[in-house]
Amino acid sequence: MSELNPFLIAQRQLDECARILDLDDSVREILRVPMREMHVSIPVRMDNGKTRVFQGFRVQYNDARGPTKGGIRFHPDETVDTVRALAAWMTWKAAVVDIPLGGGKGGVICNPKQMSDGELERLSRGYIQAISRMVGPENDVPAPDVYTTPQIMAWMMDEYSKIMQKNQFGMITGKPLELGGSAGRGDATARGGCYTIREAADHVGLDLKGATVAIQGYGNAGYFAGILVSSLFGCKVVAVSDSRGGIFIEDGLNCEAVFEHKAMTGSVVDFPDTMPISNEDLLELDVDILIPAALENVITDENASNIKAKIICELANGPTTPEADDILYKNDVHVIPDFLANAGGVTVSYFEMVQNFYMYYWEEELIHERLDKKMTRAYHATLHAFMKYKINMRQAAYVVAVERVVEAMRLRGRL
Ligand code: NAD
Repeated sequence: MSELNPFLIAQRQLDECARILDLDDSVREILRVPMREMHVSIPVRMDNGKTRVFQGFRVQYNDARGPTKGGIRFHPDETVDTVRALAAWMTWKAAVVDIPLGGGKGGVICNPKQMSDGELERLSRGYIQAISRMVGPENDVPAPDVYTTPQIMAWMMDEYSKIMQKNQFGMITGKPLELGGSAGRGDATARGGCYTIREAADHVGLDLKGATVAIQGYGNAGYFAGILVSSLFGCKVVAVSDSRGGIFIEDGLNCEAVFEHKAMTGSVVDFPDTMPISNEDLLELDVDILIPAALENVITDENASNIKAKIICELANGPTTPEADDILYKNDVHVIPDFLANAGGVTVSYFEMVQNFYMYYWEEELIHERLDKKMTRAYHATLHAFMKYKINMRQAAYVVAVERVVEAMRLRGRL
């Protein structure tokens, strides 16, 4: 459906923000489209001796505030519009948490689940060769995203270092710790989201001790969110799910044990002493906090009015459609929007870049402390715009981010 095209949604969200800020049309035109994109064909020798050609993209959306930054997806359904939307959201994300970076994103159409390690390594190196003129520590810094791993980041860093004939650790983040990765990157997205939940709970007057939580998606973001809301705040995680279905128990789950069950069986489904629940029903549970941490467009005009949570913390990118946003706002559901809620990942990626430049590495406690400061400030800047303009939290986060990007463009003489 064209209205669920993520890039059209990203443009609609920006148009709305331009209207609220009364932005000049020429400024809006600049911000509606990526400043640069590259489409590449990557020939890869497969294990059977034949060569296959993969299509890849790298999009640099806006670099007014600094080098562009954003992950690389390896996915069979990748489209350039998804990459464009994610690059736009990276721009707003870096601006809302006030780190000195712009937004970018990359993707390759491939199915890593059907490729050997050797094929994946040759594809990763081929992709970096193809886009090498665009990337670099001072230009554009990729990172992992869907189906790309620290190992893939290590191959990409090595390939780029060979091209440049010197070690270039700062050209990519999400690397293994042994190769200049940062402490605290593993749970950074969920941890950053939790800091915003803490502030949001204070705003809506919710006591987090014993507060109930449902989490859709139990991968990197969802699992760590479960662990952290329990350990940091004493929340009760009553439901979690993955692509095969969900589980529910009123007394609360042991998130670590559910993770071990998923590691053994491939799914959270059938975890002992729980009731099965569908992904759709999980969203409508009577809980205090809902954390979508899987896919786009799961909260729509069809189910938004059934949502009972007081706070939604969007760790997933794009889980809520614009129509659903309107309904949630009317119903007083406090939404912490995706590019604010999940900005912890890029914030610690930025810390990784800083450590690579310094060649000096920080302790995990220091990372947590600095991440907390960034996320707390970003949440309150957004809350301030939410109250000032009487708009929803997503529009408020846009207002904060777009104002910062526009100011950087103005100061650089680009407007
Ligand atoms: P992941 O692959 O580790 O986990 C995704 C989870 O979603 C898995 O448990 C999977 O089974 C589940 N899932 C897939 N299809 C589903 C469906 N139809 N219904 C319910 N669950 C389903 O991915 P992740 O890194 O945790 O990312 C999840 C979301 O968070 C994505 O939208 C991603 O863009 C966003 N995000 C992640 C990070 C990060 O640092 N990991 C940063 C920013 C944003």
